[in-house]
Amino acid sequence: MSQLHTPPVELDLPPSRSGSDLQHADDIYGKLWALANNLWWSWQPECDQLFRDIDPIRWRQLGHNPIALLREMTPERLADRAGELVLHSRINYAYRRLQEYLTSTQTWAATNSGVLGAKPVAYFSAEFGIHESVPIYSGGLGVLAGDHIKSASGLGVPLVGVGLYYSQGYFRQYLDDDGYQGEDYLETKIENLPMQDALDADGNPLTVSIDTRTGELLAKVWLMKVGRVRLYLLDCNIDGNKPEDRELTSRLYGGDERTRIRQELVLGVGGVKALAALGIDPGVYHLNEGHSAFGALQVVKQLMENDGMTFDDAVQQAARATCFTTHTPVPAGHDRFPPELVEEHLGPLRDSLGISEEELMALGRVDPDDVEETFCMTVIGFKMSRCANAVSNLHGIVSRRMWHSMWPDRPTNEVPIGHITNGVHVFSWLAVQMQKLYDKHFETDWKQRIQEPEAWQSIHAVDPGELWETHNALKNHLLSFVRRRISRQCRRRGEDDAVVEAARRMLDPRILTIGFGRRFATYKRANLLFGDLDRIAEIVSNADRPVQLIYAGKAHPKDEPGKRFIREIANMRHDPRFAGRVAFIEDYDINVCRHLIQGVDVWLNNPRRPLEASGTSGQKVVLNGGLNCSILDGWWGEAYNGVNGFAIGHGRSHVSDEITDRRDAEALYDTLENEVIPCFYDRDLDGLPKDWIKRMMHSISTLAWRFSSHRMVADYTSKSYVWAAGGVTCDMRYR
Ligand SMILES: *Cc1c(COP(=O)(O)O)cnc(C)c1O
Repeated sequence: MSQLHTPPVELDLPPSRSGSDLQHADDIYGKLWALANNLWWSWQPECDQLFRDIDPIRWRQLGHNPIALLREMTPERLADRAGELVLHSRINYAYRRLQEYLTSTQTWAATNSGVLGAKPVAYFSAEFGIHESVPIYSGGLGVLAGDHIKSASGLGVPLVGVGLYYSQGYFRQYLDDDGYQGEDYLETKIENLPMQDALDADGNPLTVSIDTRTGELLAKVWLMKVGRVRLYLLDCNIDGNKPEDRELTSRLYGGDERTRIRQELVLGVGGVKALAALGIDPGVYHLNEGHSAFGALQVVKQLMENDGMTFDDAVQQAARATCFTTHTPVPAGHDRFPPELVEEHLGPLRDSLGISEEELMALGRVDPDDVEETFCMTVIGFKMSRCANAVSNLHGIVSRRMWHSMWPDRPTNEVPIGHITNGVHVFSWLAVQMQKLYDKHFETDWKQRIQEPEAWQSIHAVDPGELWETHNALKNHLLSFVRRRISRQCRRRGEDDAVVEAARRMLDPRILTIGFGRRFATYKRANLLFGDLDRIAEIVSNADRPVQLIYAGKAHPKDEPGKRFIREIANMRHDPRFAGRVAFIEDYDINVCRHLIQGVDVWLNNPRRPLEASGTSGQKVVLNGGLNCSILDGWWGEAYNGVNGFAIGHGRSHVSDEITDRRDAEALYDTLENEVIPCFYDRDLDGLPKDWIKRMMHSISTLAWRFSSHRMVADYTSKSYVWAAGGVTCDMRYR
């Protein structure tokens, strides 16, 4: 029987609150405060609606941040507001549900992960995307980590998260008059985040220190509650650090190579130290991407010091308990550091391990003897784990080929890298309206069985008209959101009233709407659709069967080609052939993503195969009835079955990128013209696109369960965690 790591039930009141003689007001305020301080609220539609109802305008202006909202109100004013809106029973109900959730022991893991026992999985990630109001993520990797811990919470898998607290997050994107991306860095108000001091064994706020050759680095440890999971975030902005080190963790993926290795030192080594100081003894370490891989060396050090092991034995022992997930075949996605930086930062730790500089460097080299090789975080990730995986079937094949040289004696298909395909957290991405539809037609316990195929089969029994109506309500909601955002963007740039007015009237709910939202990394080819301008103009402005396009996404501040893609697309609005039919929404984040994936008819995904390791945004679309139109790369390579969406091309690669891009653009136009557009506009006597709706149903029934993060975490638990916790080589090694 596994023991859950449930946070104690508590009513932590805001520090600034002074005593009030209004007991009732305190009760309401205290319960809302408790709800706001556990991110569980963010995947409960009732809680979201509750906070929104308190003050809809401020809710939007405050970026959907319930703590910021509550801090603006006195308990008395809140009590008045609750009285006016008759919120009491809703607040009491939500609060009671949270308490029940936190104390429940009837979970999937209770019967499926007994071996994990009281020793939790420690899940390390450089970013966590949990909600738009907690900006410590940049894109897919972070959102995946957020969805992972939410599903671990839902399944009751004992797990703690470890990450960094970035006071400025990634960046806020705006486009200038020329459509060129600018970046704003805003300091997040720490008091508006659901974080509290993590306490050490003596009950004092915890700070960890990490020794380097050039001085000590300090990091404060914060605690964030995400349902049943505790997420610990390290923050260098504290007294005692040198001024430049106080800024070390201010920005995600900012700064130079030295900043990067220092951040990774804090995450990995600092993170392992923090867990020890908190009295947490993980049974498994899960390194989500190489960023945290230095942590494995700290685990080795602890084993040598506490258990008196030799270095070699401690490495074996640490590796047995470590799972490593690699996330990309793109070379730039694998951090590499020169020996000087490694020695500066790992030198003191290396001393205590009793190994030489060359021995340490060898751990980060494919060929331990090649002194030309830099130190690669992915390589040490593989070497320090006995359980490694890629994030889709195809990515597994690509990774085994890519890292074959690490296991030169084996045939490629026996390279010990398995795969567990990514998934998304259903309750974070499913629209309320769709959830209501499922509640009405699915079996009553479907929410407890979302990772099971059977739970979703009733979608085929839903009335097609009802499904179509629900989708169209969501589509209308998206279009209003886009109009609001685009007109605001035009106003901010000081454009003419006529332009702002046109933005308020752009887009048409009757038109086939295609969405594209993700990071503007060049391999994702956001501009592929514009490769032949005349052809896409004809598609968009076709008199009978037009198409409209909604884009969003950030380019990394140093990615000039990515920024040029953004400018190219954003400026399409000046071409009369695309007027009112092409939108670029600035500042892509979880909120923009949620609107897009809940409202589009079609989600376009056209990466240069096989560079998209998985992709997850299309999985979010599935839940809400949208259809994927995608290159057969990443998750879509194993998801597409001929009737649950659309495929672009046949999954072939060509000799050069230029040829591949040209062929794929051709294939994309063909798919749109011959399949997607006719299918959408082919209506029956009731005005319903029968074949389209069938595809929606196939998409939901075949994909929703399979690409859920509940399925993913269940797979990690049974294929990796229970093996690693048992101290035996896991089966992922041999798949
Ligand atoms: C889901 C998500 C992503 C991932 O998109 P991909 O399709 O995997 O590229 C990126 N950013 C945000 C904000 C997301 O919510």
